[in-house]
Amino acid sequence: MPDDANPRKRARTDRNDEGPGADATYTRGDLWYDDGNIILIAEDGVGFRVYKGILSQWSEVFRDMFTVPQPVDAEKWEGCAVVHLSDSSCSLIRVLRILFADENALFKRPVPFETVAAMLQLGTKYQIHHLRQEAIGRLEIYFPLRLQDFKNRFGSDWEGRVPGDGNFFPRVHDTIDDVAEDDIWTTIVLARALDVPALLPPSFYLAAQCLTPDVFREHIDEDGVRWSLSSDDIQRIIVGQEALRKRSIEFLDYFTDAPSPNCVERRTCAKELRSVRRDQLTEAHYDTSALIHATWVKNSDLCSTCIDYFVSHYEEERTKTWSELAVYFELKEVEWPVTDSTEDQTS
Ligand SMILES: [Zn+2]
Repeated sequence: MPDDANPRKRARTDRNDEGPGADATYTRGDLWYDDGNIILIAEDGVGFRVYKGILSQWSEVFRDMFTVPQPVDAEKWEGCAVVHLSDSSCSLIRVLRILFADENALFKRPVPFETVAAMLQLGTKYQIHHLRQEAIGRLEIYFPLRLQDFKNRFGSDWEGRVPGDGNFFPRVHDTIDDVAEDDIWTTIVLARALDVPALLPPSFYLAAQCLTPDVFREHIDEDGVRWSLSSDDIQRIIVGQEALRKRSIEFLDYFTDAPSPNCVERRTCAKELRSVRRDQLTEAHYDTSALIHATWVKNSDLCSTCIDYFVSHYEEERTKTWSELAVYFELKEVEWPVTDSTEDQTS
């Protein structure tokens, strides 16, 4: 049982628990069943009156908490037992709504990113396993663990995109509402704190697509929670950006070195390669998107033999880049790339 969830903890004021005005220091929350048998009081003093049985059904932590015998003078609110939690009322209501009011809807509709964060945080803390798993599953859609999923999700939509020019998360129906670049920060902090290491390489890769000055920024979410990266993680992103630029330039160098061995239009192709090199070099200093499909290869005026040859080489390079993500970002603790057996460990 977490020590911040002690049901014996006294109210912060020395007041008559049953008398008029007894509730003055607390606020009644949006979820309040008059016949509920437990009031959960968030750290900001907002109370939610719900049912012990349902909480116990989902959570071993609550089950243990409720089996602790209560002293006769235990705090009460409107005659109902209370328990003080260290969670914010914003996080708590997001999860309580799912458990009590909205459970069926959860699995059929999108939820805000803050709800996914609360599901992961409280699902882990209170051992509500299905909430934690649902949150991780939704995050993995936007932070894929496998290259094929990454390709499906991000495709070539980034072609021509420059860092800092807006959100790059595609909308995936019935998952999370409007995932934004700032949510990468939340994901990294949560993945570290709540032991979901496999989310780190894709999160760091996506963070590396931001402009370097933006890596230092703080994200304040809809609930007013501030998310910022540790100085070590900021450094990892910057080091990783360098590694990704190097990978992009290595491919460009290979690509523009000479036409493919079986090229039938060597003169034309050599000229086109020089032209592509000139264009691509103007963007190479910020090209950290070494995993994004290089449509500029397919769109070039090379002969079809050359295009097939370089596309195939690019696919090999992309697989190598993916498998080395944890190395670029110095994520030594992560088993990467993910295999079937390592993926089971994220559960
Ligand atoms: Zn050619």
